Order: sequence, then C-alpha cells, then structure tokens
Amino acid sequence: MTQESPYGFETLAIHAGAAPDPATGARSTPIYQTTAYVFDDADHAASLFNLQDYGYIYSRLGNPTVSVLEERVAALEGGRGATATASGHAAQMLAMFTLMEPGASFVAANKLYGGSVTQFMRTFQKFGWDCEMVNVDDFAAVEAALKKPTVKALFCESLANPGGVISDLEPLAELAHAAGVPLIVDNTMASPALCRPFEWGADIVIHSTTKFISGHGNAMGGMVVDSGNFNWAQNDKFPSLTQPEPAYHGLNFFETFGDLAMTVHGHAVGLRDLGPTMAPMNAFLAITGSETLPLRMERHCQNAAEIVQFLNTHPKVAWVSYAGLEGNKYKPLADKYLGGKAGSVFTFGVKGGYEAGLKLVESCELFSHLANLGDTRSLILHPASTTHRQLTEEQQISAGAGPDVLRISIGLETAKDLIADLEQAMAGA
Ligand code: PLP
Repeated sequence: MTQESPYGFETLAIHAGAAPDPATGARSTPIYQTTAYVFDDADHAASLFNLQDYGYIYSRLGNPTVSVLEERVAALEGGRGATATASGHAAQMLAMFTLMEPGASFVAANKLYGGSVTQFMRTFQKFGWDCEMVNVDDFAAVEAALKKPTVKALFCESLANPGGVISDLEPLAELAHAAGVPLIVDNTMASPALCRPFEWGADIVIHSTTKFISGHGNAMGGMVVDSGNFNWAQNDKFPSLTQPEPAYHGLNFFETFGDLAMTVHGHAVGLRDLGPTMAPMNAFLAITGSETLPLRMERHCQNAAEIVQFLNTHPKVAWVSYAGLEGNKYKPLADKYLGGKAGSVFTFGVKGGYEAGLKLVESCELFSHLANLGDTRSLILHPASTTHRQLTEEQQISAGAGPDVLRISIGLETAKDLIADLEQAMAGA
C-alpha cells in the first residue's frame, strides 16, 4: 500500500517537496548552507528540543534543502516519510540502528551489492548485529531463517547489484509479515521510476541516491523511506520505537508519531547520535537530478536493451545476465515488478574468463573503468577484483560476481557509439 498523490510520477519528480523560497521567491531550491538556526525565544527552543514543535535546530538533525529531497523521494516511492543520509551505506546503518539491538539479527538476500555483504556480515558484527544470508528465491529457506526469535527484518534488493536478478517482493513481504518483521528493500538499482516496493508490501525502502536518483555521478547520498504501514507495536521486537526513550524524557516514538515514528526516530536519534548527515550541497545536486529521473531511466533502459542485444549475439561473449532478455529466469519478475524493463546495469562474461575480461575493461575508451553505477556516462567494472574483492570466491559466485563476470552500467550516450566501443575493445580481448 502506498501513500497516494493526485499527481503523476513525472510531476512529483519535479515538484514534490519543493516550493518557491518564501523569503526570496527563488524558484530553484536554495542550498541552505548553514549549520544552525536561530530560535524565536527560549520557549521555542525548548519545544524544538522536546520534539513538541517541528522546526530546524542544527543541520546534523535536519536542513531545509535536505528536507526537500526527503519529501521528494518519499513522494516518488509513495512513502510516508524519509531520512536522508550521507551515503547509501549510512542509510542501511541508520535503518538497522532503529530496528536492531545488540544480540539481534536480520535475514538478507545473498545476492547483494558486495559492499552491503561486507557491511552486514563483518562491520555490523561490531554492533552485536548478526546477519544470515539466504537465497531469497527459496521461500522455504527464507521462512526457516525468519523463524529465529532474534530476527528483526528481512532485507533484499529489488533489482540486485551486480545485475540480472530480481527479488519476488510480494511473497517476501508476506513471509516477513508472517514473522512479525518488516521487509526492507534496497531500491537503488531499479529506482522508483521502475519499481515501487511499497506497492508490493515492502515496509522500508533504502536508496543510495548516489546512483540513479542523483544520476550524474557527482554527489554521495542515501535515503531511508518509511511506508508508514508497519505496526511496530504488534510484538516486542522494536523497543526503540515502542519503549520510552530516556534521551527525550521517556517519549514513546510510535505512540507519539504513529506512521512517522521511524522517520522522526531517524532524525531525532539516528542522525543526532550517529551523525551520518547528508550535506545540503549534495541534497541540492540530488534534487536537481531527481527532476529528470523518469526520462533518464527510460533512456537508460532503452540503451541497455540495445547493448544487451549486441552482446548476446557476439561470438566472443559467453553469456549475458539481463532480466529483460527473453528466456532469462527473472524475465517474468521484470514484467511484474519493473513494468517489463530491467534497468541499465547487467553482467556478462567474455570467452577467455578472468584475463580476457580484464583486457576488455582496459581496452574500453568511451566506457569509464570505475566503481559506480547509475551515471549519465557508461561505466564498466570487473566486480571480483574491485567492488566484490573483499568477499571469498564462494561469496563472489553466490553474489553473481564470479571471476569471469563483467558489470556494465549503461549511460545516456548514443547507443551505436557504445556498441562501437565494446566492439573495438572486444577485438583486443
Ligand atoms: N546499494 C546498492 C545497490 C549499491 O549499488 C550501493 C553502492 O554501489 C550501495 C547500496 C551503497 O551506496 P553508497 O555507495 O552511496 O554508500
């Protein structure tokens, strides 16, 4: 279920959260490059600090430019509220910080961005949070993993990085809800232009706005979006939201803020105490990027489909994993959840394996060899030696990033130029 808006997606991408600046009339959202905000008087300051009044105190907790982006992404996802963070990884940490306690655990899909695997399996251990990875295509395995009493959430990517894999969100949401926990979906690779996980029962959406939402490869950022639908008081698993918070004189976030509890907690406790705040300049860049998200995603997908056709019939290509390809295992899920599109990030292997793949990457001229995706520019990468290199070979293979895998993020250039670049690079591979 989503929060409905009378406006279409393209209108929301341009207008949601933004209005002409009341002080100056500036039509474009100003960059409020300030750390703090003047109080009207002592009572006003006290009511802000007690969370009795809504307003700005200090930019670690909230900033007007950042708020516009938060409202924009919440609207695009059909969510109730959002908390922006300094990066996608910070968004994952912040969401888990609200839900987890030391000794708690969560279940995650085993096909995830490599950095997320490392964050979940290693770094989160330092907080006393455990993560069990399962193949989310195997519903019986998911159900069994969710049965553990310590489990607080199920996590997956809608369209999984490095590519070609789609999570079956509807049954996964049902399994999570039957276990009394929320389904958290990293929607970075699909973006809300292709997939809106709340429509399929997800409860929380995570973004690395660094990718398609910003779209220009120039600003780090993350977002935790709350659907506002999850009943945090249905069990005793979520004390941060349902028990008195000593730092706010015993305030109970769920009782006080209802469907905004997670979002208010994200700012008032998460950002306040952990501090991974998005910079106003980066929010401005993401706001600007978000205005063209629907148009960009359309062209990203169109270009990707053309490049996939070229690679799929090329004699030097061993395989292509793209959920939009006829015969791909995930094509029916692309049709159901992504409107028949499959994004612009995919993987393929060249004959000759590791060596030939690396040679191809190094021979590209138009494609940039770097570790990012969702840029206007086309990018190419060898995950096993870069983004997924911290993983064991077994983990790499299970994450779809084995030794022969190349990952491509197709940009917005002329498709025939991209094909020509791959053709010349392939000749040398
Ligand atoms: N989720 C996905 C799917 C990603 O691809 C990435 C980064 O590549 C992240 C999360 C982490 O985002 P960030 O790099 O903004 O911290």
